[in-house]
Amino acid sequence: MRPIQAHISIGAMAHNLRVARSHAQGARVFAVVKANAYGHGLSRAVRAFAAADGLAVLTLEEAANLRLMGVTHPILLLEGLFAPDEIAACAELDLWPVLHHTGQLDWLERHPPPRPLPVFLKFDSGMHRLGFPLAAHHEVLTRARALPTIGAITLMTHFAQADEAVGVDWQLQPFLRALSNQDLPWSSANSAALLRYPQSCGAWVRPGLMLYGASPFADTPAQQLDLRPAMSLQSAVIAVQTLQAGEATGYGQLFRAERETRVGIVACGYADGYPRHAMNAPVWVDGRPGRSLGRVSMDMLCVDLSACPQAGVGSPVELWGKQVPVDEVAAAADTSSYELLCALAARVPVAEAD
Ligand SMILES: *Cc1c(COP(=O)(O)O)cnc(C)c1O
Repeated sequence: MRPIQAHISIGAMAHNLRVARSHAQGARVFAVVKANAYGHGLSRAVRAFAAADGLAVLTLEEAANLRLMGVTHPILLLEGLFAPDEIAACAELDLWPVLHHTGQLDWLERHPPPRPLPVFLKFDSGMHRLGFPLAAHHEVLTRARALPTIGAITLMTHFAQADEAVGVDWQLQPFLRALSNQDLPWSSANSAALLRYPQSCGAWVRPGLMLYGASPFADTPAQQLDLRPAMSLQSAVIAVQTLQAGEATGYGQLFRAERETRVGIVACGYADGYPRHAMNAPVWVDGRPGRSLGRVSMDMLCVDLSACPQAGVGSPVELWGKQVPVDEVAAAADTSSYELLCALAARVPVAEAD
């Protein structure tokens, strides 16, 4: 059998949820489980996050799956209704849709559900992606409150730079100024905001990434935030090449040896979800830290064995996990851990750890 495998730790996910709660200032916690729980599997997330106050997903299909798995928590649909034909199912499955444009209010007017839907009204406080303009808050709220098809209202916004030095206040303060006199609960914080800006917690927080043990901040390792990596990607050396000075390895011959170099060929490539653009990414080979070499191919990548003369065919390799933070691999590929975790390929067998 090809030696690649991912290990996913339910215990680490449950721990990370406790960390989120410890920062949440008493707010209720939606565990964000979109994108197959950031690559960790929806059913594992259901078990790991049993202590959450709710779960947040993108689609009706994901939400229906959660209900089939017996989830009785509140379920938030982060992008709300995509079409009016979703309203009935929303009511039937007892889901809380986000409403972010007036068309969705029209749909609710014309296709009334059997009972009023609790909704999250999303306002655009500067990200300019989804949301009613803050300036229209009076009309939107007047209309939403008058619609008999809308039940409890929670106000919502989303931050564009919670992970950067500029932070959240440039969005949060106008949001609160416009809406604080409405006497409604509100929700704004993703992982980064929750960790750094207690003033952003409101009634509900919406952590995703941190629950899987990665850091939203380029300058702060996950370990420093007391987060435990939930996914580890493991494989093994399946061949060893000894390059002579001047010889190169892999497509494009991107790594050329300056001196005799032992290179391990590892059974993991971009078709497994490893980022093709990773350059000199950290790896852990046979219990020691090392680096990848040259270009990642579809099914293989190369690692430097100079520092581990004892390593050979069969030596275990950690691509990311406890020894190699996924954030560091992402940085070596000029991307984020969000992308790497979500992109774990379906062909990689997954085992559960603790
Ligand atoms: C994905 C998402 C989150 C979670 O963000 P993280 O950065 O992963 O914590 C929160 N809110 C909304 C609206 C989202 O789409």
